[in-house]
Amino acid sequence: MDEALSLARKLAGTHTLSDGELLALIRGRGPETAAFLREAAAKTARSVFGREIYLRGLVEFTNFCRCDCRYCGIRRSNGSARRYRLTPEEILAACREGHALGFRTFVLQGGEDPWWTDERLCAVVSALKGEFPDSAVTLSVGERSRESYARLRAAGADRYLLRHETADPAHYAFLHPPGQTLESRLHCLRDLKELGYQVGAGMMVGSPGQTDECLAADLAFLRDFRPHMVGMGPYLSHPDTPFAGAPDGSAELTLYLLSAVRLLLPQALLPATTALGTALPDGRERGILHGANVVMPNLTPPEQREKYLLYHDKLSAGAECAAGLEELGRRLRAVGYEPVVQRGDSPLMLTGKQS
Ligand code: SAH
Repeated sequence: MDEALSLARKLAGTHTLSDGELLALIRGRGPETAAFLREAAAKTARSVFGREIYLRGLVEFTNFCRCDCRYCGIRRSNGSARRYRLTPEEILAACREGHALGFRTFVLQGGEDPWWTDERLCAVVSALKGEFPDSAVTLSVGERSRESYARLRAAGADRYLLRHETADPAHYAFLHPPGQTLESRLHCLRDLKELGYQVGAGMMVGSPGQTDECLAADLAFLRDFRPHMVGMGPYLSHPDTPFAGAPDGSAELTLYLLSAVRLLLPQALLPATTALGTALPDGRERGILHGANVVMPNLTPPEQREKYLLYHDKLSAGAECAAGLEELGRRLRAVGYEPVVQRGDSPLMLTGKQS
């Protein structure tokens, strides 16, 4: 048996691998190992979550951003981006619509927009928790101070998504301008965990300059940090960024790594991401069949949604929008899964355990 396949078997049995083994699993990837990983990951996800798929209503509430991440379409230096910012009332209205459709988690995502002070953001979070006490609020607004994270948590925020983007410091420096460091990102992630958030990390697959060693470092980081959630999608280029001409990341490799992460972290909340759905027509379903258990349809008002352009051709219609929820349900049921009206908390929070 080849080395990668025997490592995949070991991963499925023990839910861990050493750093060197993770690298060998990535380097030695091939169809047979991929098929094994997929089946083992889907089985593991079913043993934890059954056939239930958790839904998150995504509200992209601002595309103003003070950061200049070289891969991102809403980076500060992109003068062609049409900027928008929803009002607090528009955010509440989008969530109200989502709640009526059955969403019980709202993900407020945006650029690092200084207009959204703690005061303003806390007010929106408390209003949401007041109106929808049965729902979870997830924030994804980048790096803030520990004090800011603490205030948002006290206002009622339950979860926080902050991808680590890459666990290799040199690669992090290649993807970001000076002043944005992996150290600071990891500091934020640790603060968020200590403050009691359900925390999501994750990375793009196939970002410019990424090597197999970078991806092995990502898996090792996830293995050790044990986030509650892991967001992973292929890198997709955006024409108005310094990486404009770079090739897109591989959807196949994304699926391979999704399965590996499911086996490393059996209880993690793993979305079949928008980027995966953009890269493959059946990316959502294939993500689920490779071990994902979450989908995040878009609740952003359609006029603004098309302006939250992180990368080319980003999905924003069809099963991606709340109005397409029925179609999404049909597609999930067609592969044997069922979307549920639930908060869908991390099983780790329910047992109080961290692994
Ligand atoms: N400001 C927030 C939200 C960023 S957008 C934050 O910093 O967390 C959410 C994610 O989209 C990012 O973490 C990044 O991993 C992903 N993303 C950005 N540009 C992308 C691109 N060109 N291709 C694929 N994913 C991208």
